[in-house]
Amino acid sequence: MQNKSVPEEFDVVIVGRGPVGATLANLLGLCGVRTLVLEREARTYHLPRAVHFDDECMRVFQTIGLADAILPQTILSPGMLFLDANGKMLLDWSRPQTLTPMGWHLSYRFHQPDLEDVLIGGLARFPNVTLRNRCDVFALDQDEHGVRVRYEDLSNGTLTEVRAGYVIGCDGARSLVRRFIGSGMDDLGFHERWLVIDLLLKRARDDLGDYSLQHCDPRRPATYVRGTGTRRRWEITVLLDEDSKEIAQPAKTWELLSRWITPDDAELERAAVYTFHSVIAQQWRSGRLLLAGDSAHQTPPFLGQGMCAGIRDAANLAWKLAAIIQGAAAPDLLDTYQSERQPHVREFIELAIRLGGVINTKAIEAGLAAGQARENAPVKLEVKKPLLGPGLALGELPLAGHLAPQFELRDGRRGDDRIGYGHVLLVESATTHSSRLSQAGIQILTSDDAAGIGPWLRQHGIIAALVRPDRYVRGTARNETELDRVVAALTPPTHVPSAA
Ligand SMILES: Cc1cc2nc3c(=O)[nH]c(=O)nc-3n(C[C@H](O)[C@H](O)[C@H](O)COP(=O)(O)OP(=O)(O)OC[C@H]3O[C@@H](n4cnc5c(N)ncnc54)[C@H](O)[C@@H]3O)c2cc1C
Repeated sequence: MQNKSVPEEFDVVIVGRGPVGATLANLLGLCGVRTLVLEREARTYHLPRAVHFDDECMRVFQTIGLADAILPQTILSPGMLFLDANGKMLLDWSRPQTLTPMGWHLSYRFHQPDLEDVLIGGLARFPNVTLRNRCDVFALDQDEHGVRVRYEDLSNGTLTEVRAGYVIGCDGARSLVRRFIGSGMDDLGFHERWLVIDLLLKRARDDLGDYSLQHCDPRRPATYVRGTGTRRRWEITVLLDEDSKEIAQPAKTWELLSRWITPDDAELERAAVYTFHSVIAQQWRSGRLLLAGDSAHQTPPFLGQGMCAGIRDAANLAWKLAAIIQGAAAPDLLDTYQSERQPHVREFIELAIRLGGVINTKAIEAGLAAGQARENAPVKLEVKKPLLGPGLALGELPLAGHLAPQFELRDGRRGDDRIGYGHVLLVESATTHSSRLSQAGIQILTSDDAAGIGPWLRQHGIIAALVRPDRYVRGTARNETELDRVVAALTPPTHVPSAA
């Protein structure tokens, strides 16, 4: 039994087991880091939230070994169309139905509670990860050795404390950890109330279609999204003089939906009014306290990137934490977390705001300029992934800040399944550095392993690329001298053991 006078010790305490906290805990589980997750609620959040995630997120879910469990709970999305008040298409954001260089599809639809259940279930695989529900964290005190974390067990009112090397606030928009960090928020200016409604179809309504639709109608902007199974989502603007409680009442909700659907066709699963914000925390770290997910940034959902950004935070952070905890890197490695992630998420939020201007019809031209104008056809949108901000990528070398593709191995497997959550050097053929790299725990993948590697290297005018556990390019080499430099920077490396 735990001696009450000696607090339990963990390498990392995660506050909040939403999708970001649960993903981070799975990644730390893989790395063998002693992790405690403290969550206030007994069950996953019941109100409607995320419905879309992208290929990069699926790659993270693959890394934590849960893609196969998540995939059957998703459907592929053909994309999103923006229509004006007369139904004329303004913007076409169709998505290709082929695999992307990530090895997955560009756009998956899902139901957030289903995803969270799989992520939480995944934690049971790791003896080094403990999840405690109904535990409300209320105080954090850090000193040079660690953090004292105090929480209340809401099931019986017991106050408990534990010690942690690091505390990660995955505690959502109203983050307590952010308050202890003392961070203000940069306000990017978009704040709108929307009524979000999930319906379950009682009979087929194929006419509603598979595309997401943005009804850019100045009288009442609205969004339709086909969900998984029989679930269908509408998001409808709440006007300035409307009351948030009244508009979410079933009678009013059905009235607003009546141009598309009636109670004959569907039952109301849930409806809630959200204020969509666009904010970024100014400071993501203070010593041993860090933020990830909605605690660090919030975006209007028009790009479907809020949770995705948090999953990227988790993938960026976990291997760095593990390297520090395992003594392979100094704590200042954590300074690269915000510097890399903040510009990336800011670019996505700014684009979501521009698209919001098309939807609410207040800045249509500026929003459409984000796409490509075509003759006699609606503007075409293709969203390029932002680059990581300055951090670990070495110098001005090609591909700095880019994601590396996932190569198919000659035996048909996906490359990441072999690499695990570790560093890998992609090269044409075995290098003179091979033994030094493998001693440092860095894997090597050559054209003998995957036919796509050679052409990709040549396409970018490089002979090698060093890829981090979160799949971003850490360094590239155009010649042997540059390769020496890349290898030297990583031996002894800031690496974590491979999970393969
Ligand atoms: C209508 C809507 C549509 C959206 N659509 C999309 C989409 O299509 N794609 C997308 O990527 N994103 C979307 N999002 C955003 C997405 O839902 C969020 O970004 C995501 O849920 C954030 O995850 P998180 O883990 O950071 O925080 P949360 O999911 O908010 O989890 C935080 C957790 O911390 C717990 N907690 C808080 N404080 C404490 C404490 N003191 N002690 C213990 N536990 C605590 C909470 O109980 C909660 O479980 C949408 C959001 C909304 C509202």
